[in-house]
Amino acid sequence: MNCNEFNECVCEIVDKRLNEERTNELLRHADVCPHCKYEFQTMQATKNIVHTKMKRQSVPADVYYSIINATLNSGHSSWFKKLFGVNLNPAIAFVFLAVVGVGLYSVFVPQNNRMPEEANIISQSLKNYQAVIGGSIKPQLVSTEDDVHSFLEKDVSFEVNVPKMKGCSSCAGVLNSFKGVKLAHVVYQLGDKSIIYIYQADLAEAMSGNIIGLPDEAKEELIKTDWYVRELEGNRTIVLWKYKNTLCSAVSEMKKDEMIALLTDKE
Ligand SMILES: [Zn+2]
Repeated sequence: MNCNEFNECVCEIVDKRLNEERTNELLRHADVCPHCKYEFQTMQATKNIVHTKMKRQSVPADVYYSIINATLNSGHSSWFKKLFGVNLNPAIAFVFLAVVGVGLYSVFVPQNNRMPEEANIISQSLKNYQAVIGGSIKPQLVSTEDDVHSFLEKDVSFEVNVPKMKGCSSCAGVLNSFKGVKLAHVVYQLGDKSIIYIYQADLAEAMSGNIIGLPDEAKEELIKTDWYVRELEGNRTIVLWKYKNTLCSAVSEMKKDEMIALLTDKE
């Protein structure tokens, strides 16, 4: 551990984005290096001031997204770098805490009259995908790809699906719950622009429609064929399929053939 390495990570420590082991390793350096200790304490103090003195203001969703899109479309650096200002080793994966608090572009979603829109897995998947590309997510910790899988599976009762994907340059995981139903989320960055997001929930829970659910059309197709694939308005493709005791719901801007090829490619 040297001062350069510490300096590169000091923001991540302050924002608590690193795992415990890595954090401790870095803090041990700060314990013996007065310069880095000062750096760390200054950064921490600045963050505290920003948090206590600044008030967050909401902006209309269309304003928010036009800002985000302008930011995302400028330059050529990676999606992760644009969102989080850090360069990552491609082998390293992010674990995210989803912070979804903004409105959405209207997208076409097959409706089921008895089910509230917010409980619809397809709506949730599209909303989360938008949040991912819009950047309203916050990295929680940085870890290896295997760690992401373990992190996700530790907290849920269903089998988490983190398939290896051709051309994947970054992979990320998110855990949260919807009205007590545990959900796992995986995000892949493929090349410079393409992103695939996979929402995962307990299959029985999803099919029951008690708390989360699917439109009848999607449910029937899943029962008959194990798959449900639609190209929706707004350039979104959604692919639902069964994986062991898990319902997976993937969203991307790819065409359906390309997306299915990626999702079914066994390496
Ligand atoms: Zn130092």
